Amino acid sequence: MAIISIGISDPDDSNVYLVTGDRNVLVDTGLARDPSRLISRIRSALNGSDLDMLVLTHCHADHVGGLDAVVREFGCKAYAHPEDAARLREGDSEYILDRMFGFRLGKCDVGDLPDGHVIDTGDHRLRVVHTPGHTRGSICLYDEATCALISGDTLFAGGVGRTDFPGGSRSDMERSLNSLRRFDIKGLYPGHGIHVEHDGNDYLAEGLSMFGGVII
Ligand SMILES: [Zn+2]
Repeated sequence: MAIISIGISDPDDSNVYLVTGDRNVLVDTGLARDPSRLISRIRSALNGSDLDMLVLTHCHADHVGGLDAVVREFGCKAYAHPEDAARLREGDSEYILDRMFGFRLGKCDVGDLPDGHVIDTGDHRLRVVHTPGHTRGSICLYDEATCALISGDTLFAGGVGRTDFPGGSRSDMERSLNSLRRFDIKGLYPGHGIHVEHDGNDYLAEGLSMFGGVII
C-alpha cells in the first residue's frame, strides 16, 4: 500500500504521485519538458506492473504537460473534473496556461471524473472531492483507506493555491478548504513542495487561517 512520489526533474514540474494497488493510478504528470525522463521514473515506480489510469488534479500545464506521453506509453485513459476536462478537450490555452510555460498542449482526450466518484485500487479508495478555487475544476483525492489527501494546488504543506488565474476564485477556495474539514487528514500530498505523512489537518487549519480563520 503506497502513495509514491515520482519526483520532479524540472523546477516547473508539479509533483507526480503513483497510487499503487491491484490497479495503479498516476496523479498528474508534471510539465514534463523531457517526457522520456518522466516515463522512465514511472516505469521504475511501477516495477513491472501496468498503469491503469491517469487522474489530473486540474488542467494547468505544469500538471498535465506529460499527458500525451503517459497515455501513449501506457495505453491508459486520463480523467479530470468535468469543468477542467472540458478545457483540456478544447485546448483552451488561456485557461491551461501552456503558452505561459512556452509550449502548446493542443486538444486532449480527457474523460470526466465527477465529484464523489471513488477510485478503488484495492489498497486505496480515492474519493474525488471537487475543490474549486484554484481553477473551476480542481479536485482533491481523499484516500479513505489511509486518511491521506492528494490536494493538487488547493492545499500545500504550508500555504494554499493561487486564485488569480482564469477560473480562480478566492471565495470558492475558502469554501473548498472549509469543505475539507469533514475529513480526518493524516498524509498530505500536494501538487508542489514537500509532502508529509502526518498532521494534514494542521496544514488545513493553517491554510484556512490565511482566510481569517475557520467558517463554522
Ligand atoms: Zn495550478
